[in-house]
Amino acid sequence: MIYKLSRIVVKFGGSSIRNSFEDALELVQKFWEKKSEVVVVLSALKGVTDLLLELAERKSPELLEEFTNIHLATAEKFGVNIDIEEELKELRFVLKNERAFPSKKAYTDHVFSFGERLSVKLFSSTLNERGIESAPIDAFYLVETNGNFGNAEVNLEKTKNNLWMLEELLKAGKVPVVTGFLGKFNSLRTTLGRGGSDYTASVLGRLLNARAVLIMSDVKGIYTANPRIVKNVRIIPFISYDEALIASKLGLKALHERAIEPVKNRVPLIFGRTNKWRLGTLVSNFTLKIPLITYKIIGEKAKIGVIGASCSVPYPVVEQKEEYTCFMVGKAELEDVLNEVHEVIFGESSSSSNNSELWAGI
Ligand code: ASP
Ligand code: MG
Repeated sequence: MIYKLSRIVVKFGGSSIRNSFEDALELVQKFWEKKSEVVVVLSALKGVTDLLLELAERKSPELLEEFTNIHLATAEKFGVNIDIEEELKELRFVLKNERAFPSKKAYTDHVFSFGERLSVKLFSSTLNERGIESAPIDAFYLVETNGNFGNAEVNLEKTKNNLWMLEELLKAGKVPVVTGFLGKFNSLRTTLGRGGSDYTASVLGRLLNARAVLIMSDVKGIYTANPRIVKNVRIIPFISYDEALIASKLGLKALHERAIEPVKNRVPLIFGRTNKWRLGTLVSNFTLKIPLITYKIIGEKAKIGVIGASCSVPYPVVEQKEEYTCFMVGKAELEDVLNEVHEVIFGESSSSSNNSELWAGI
């Protein structure tokens, strides 16, 4: 038995592994060398889940080929050989037998599963190639859910009983690489809703008593507003579970809305960017009470949420609680309004070159 000092769960999002595969591997290696037990949770490669959705619908050979090539090309790029024949055979079989499934959603969930199953195979093989013993794990054998196909909820009790598999691997000093997003209900495959790998990571963090759960993506952390749309956003270094929960329910892209519940008041969540490893946000009971602005697109409209700040706006308020206010705008004006509201709340002191950097002692 190899004695390890702490245990962490690290989740990498789809663009991380497609664009920063090397950095993701090195981060895992670093933790592992520093005597941490590491459980990796992976999304499908960026774009693959959307591709599979289309493939489930159209069943076209071209899309199947594209799906195959993305994975073979990535494997080649990183100098590993992966055998994906088994999975491809099963995928072809599923596409031909949609009618054998109890519902369209159950069928689509099975098709979705191949994205994560291939990404863990790829990542785990590369770790092995580098001398870090690792095993790809299909969460179908771990994560038990209810029967809400397409957006299933995890049954923590039942899932806990399956985790001995991971415990064994960790005890032997190996790195399990687990498929995010996937689950099982009555021997059928389920998924946890789009972006559901965050939820998988948080469930595993809770049930394995991890010291922390890292959510690594292509942005450094949680910002005062979506950094892709709003100018002069600031990173939020410390935010409470409750604030993060509200933000995720009101549309925060960085976090799946059911990911807070399992870890709340138990395991800290740390957000970071995979590329060159930057950790930016710690979700725990400590908060700096920095306001944040979220949005959700609903048809031709957008619902903007302002959390932790009061601001009066000339738009219809649709929800108001002590902690937040929501109002509606047209989708076309979303970007302008987000920038305007951000400007009003944060004024001129905003700076895009906020240097706050968080390296928690994990
Ligand atoms: N691959 C899934 C998605 O695209 C799950 C995830 O990325 O977390 O939604
Ligand atoms: Mg996500």
